[in-house]
Formats: sequence, C-alpha cells, structure tokens
Amino acid sequence: MTLKERYEGVINYFKTNVPVAETELNYSNPFELIVAVILSAQCTDKRINQVTPKLFKDYPTAEALASASSDTIFNYIRSVSYPNNKAKHLVEMAKMLLRDFNGVIPSEIDQLVKLPGVGRKTANVVASVIYDKPAMAVDTHVFRVSNRLGLTKAKTPLQSEQQLMKYIPKEYVATAHHWLILHGRYTCLARTPKCDVCPLTEWCQYFKTKVINKNAPHSLSTKKETMAKKETTTKKTAAKKAVVKKTATKKTTAVAPAKKNTTKAHVKEPVKADKFVAHSTSLKAGDKAPAFKAKDQNGKLISLNDLKGKNVILYFYPKDNTPTCTLEACSLRDEHQYLSKKNYVVLGVSADDEKMHKKFATKFELPFSLLADTDMTIIKAYDVWGIKQFMGKIYDGIIRTTFIINEKGVISHVITDVKSKEHGKQILEL
Ligand code: SF4
Repeated sequence: MTLKERYEGVINYFKTNVPVAETELNYSNPFELIVAVILSAQCTDKRINQVTPKLFKDYPTAEALASASSDTIFNYIRSVSYPNNKAKHLVEMAKMLLRDFNGVIPSEIDQLVKLPGVGRKTANVVASVIYDKPAMAVDTHVFRVSNRLGLTKAKTPLQSEQQLMKYIPKEYVATAHHWLILHGRYTCLARTPKCDVCPLTEWCQYFKTKVINKNAPHSLSTKKETMAKKETTTKKTAAKKAVVKKTATKKTTAVAPAKKNTTKAHVKEPVKADKFVAHSTSLKAGDKAPAFKAKDQNGKLISLNDLKGKNVILYFYPKDNTPTCTLEACSLRDEHQYLSKKNYVVLGVSADDEKMHKKFATKFELPFSLLADTDMTIIKAYDVWGIKQFMGKIYDGIIRTTFIINEKGVISHVITDVKSKEHGKQILEL
C-alpha cells in the first residue's frame, strides 16, 4: 500500500462515517475558545468544560479578564492542570489582546503565538476553528494516531504537522485534526489501542506489524522449529502444572486455614440485577450435533455427515475481515498443523457469502473451509444468533461460539468464552 492510498483510505473512512467532527470544548465565541484551548493544555476537555461556565459568566470579555488578578482567576481554574501558570497566561493574554490587537483574536499563526499561553498547537486550533484556516494542530492524540496509522513517521509534533499537511487535502485539514483526536481519545488509546474494534485496521501500519504479524504464517523451516519448541514448551508447562498441583495439594493439607483474602483479585463482584446478559446457545456437550450442508469459499459442498470419524471444530464468527474475527481465524490458522495432528477439521461459519469468504481466506492464507451460511440455516440450527452488546450498543447478531464435535457427531465442548487471539491454543488445551 502506498502512502497516498493509506491517506485516501483513512480520509475516505472518516468522510463517510464521521462527516462532522468538532472540538469537544464548550465555547460560544472566539474569545471563549482561545481561553478554553489555553486551559486545555495537558488537561482533559471534560475537566475544562466543568470550569469554564463560571469563568465565562464572570469574565465574558477580554476587558473583564484583563482587569482581573491572576490570583482571582486561579480560584476559578484550580482543578485544571498547572492552574498558576494558566491563570497568569489568561490575564496577560487578555491584556495583550487589548493592547496589540484591539481586542480581536488574530487569524495568523505567527501573531497568535505571540499571545501568552498560546503555543503552536493552540494557535493552529484557533486558526482552524475560528478562521477555518487549513492548520493542523498536533496534540498527543494526533501525534500518536498518525504515527501508528503510518500516515507520518515523525519524532516531533512539528514534523507530524508538516507531513500531515503535505498529504491531507486542504479542505479536510481542519476536520482531520478532530478526526484524529477523537479516534485517539476513544479508540486508539495510548496504552491499549482498541485494535479489535477499530475500523481503520485495513490501513493501519501498527495493526499490520504489531498485531497481525504476530500471527503471520511461518516459513516451512520455521514451522519445524516452532513445532519442536512447542512440544518442549508443552512438556515444560505440563510438568510445571503437575508441580503446582502437587504443591497446592500439599499446602491445602499441611497449612492451617488461611485468613480470608480480601485483595481485589479474589473478591467476587456481586452480580447486578440489571446486568446485560447476551444470548448463549442452548446446545450443550452431549447433544447430537445438528446436521448441516453448505458451500465453502471454493464452492465445495461440505456436509457434517461426510466428516464422521473426524473431530470437527465448528466455529461461528460475526463477520469476515473484522479485527477480532481476523485474530480468531489467524490463531486457528497458526495452530492448524497441530489441530490436524489431533484429527481436527476446522470449519468457520458466518453469514458472509462465498466471495467474501474467498477474499478473507486468501488475504490471511487460511488453510481451512469457511462456510457461507447466507440464509443462516446453520447459525440458527446451532442457536448462535441472538442479542449481544458491542461498544455499548445492544443488537441481534452472531454470537461468537465454537462447537467441538467428536468422531461420532456428538458435541463434546461448547466454547462461549472464545479467546480470539489464541483460540487455536485454547482448543488444543481442552
Ligand atoms: S488499528 Fe489499533 S493502532 Fe491502528 S489506528 Fe486502530 S486502534 Fe490505533
């Protein structure tokens, strides 16, 4: 993917899905905006919106603010970060506005940065929001998200600004600033980016190198090495488990009853009466697996009856190419050789059609069949369609569930707590 294509992909996504993106700071005129932006440095918009209503009420103009003392302003903003400096900056900024700019907020970056408390980022925000100028303000979110996506390769905010300005069409620069901020604030979080629900994975450099590549297929020789390593690790883990089990048993018999453990990790959370409960299949281990027949991504008809004598991993997933479904499929792909050794046949099922499955399977080199259950016959027979919750929304959909069917066509395990990233291992450890 070229850099141009990456920019196009990301911008087109936001254009279509987030046509309106604005600052989350509350303000009703340019003066209030510049005050709010100065206050927002190293602080959250939420906190700023808590202190500004009273401040704006008592000091609604540059004249009013210029006549206040910084000590007085400090009392209004004491809960934001760096209140001392910010109080001084606000009063001085108001004074300079009156003295050098006739009380009008300047529109040019080089003039804006002369105001106390106004750095390049604040100046860019003001220029783009008030004067609709194509200025890219780079804050911590913009810097992080654009680097992760691969839109920039920057070590400083200025480099980031210059690179973004080079590729983002002028008419989208101001909005792109908010797109990137909001994405960083709610999805691409600093410590734990929510890649599993992010809609930008297709273009994201970080996702490809740090998330998907972990699951990339190994070369033939590496496969052998991995297999050998795995066998050793499995033996070691089994040995460790045995030791732990022994020790635990010893402790239980030899030690007097322990004091009640009150650490958080051991306290069972009370179940709230109104807690949301997602649908779960009614099938259980011991039930006869419902028969099915469906075409896979290559048009091949797959029937459960033809798989007698095999262990079948029948895994239901919501949608091809979505982040979590990709992680799940890649995990099964990476463990496929070990699963095959245990006489397992892997079959994925979703409501996507053969064409979609083909694309998905080819892109991630999936060595197993994906059944196109477009009329949801299999999904319904296995009772995996129902109410679920995702990102706070409640709706009907395919519930991620895996059924292990034994050689006789009987369900031996139903896995509802699918660990997508390591689903292959999860099954191998059954
Ligand atoms: S895929 Fe992950 S790293 Fe990339 S933009 Fe989305 S949340 Fe951030």
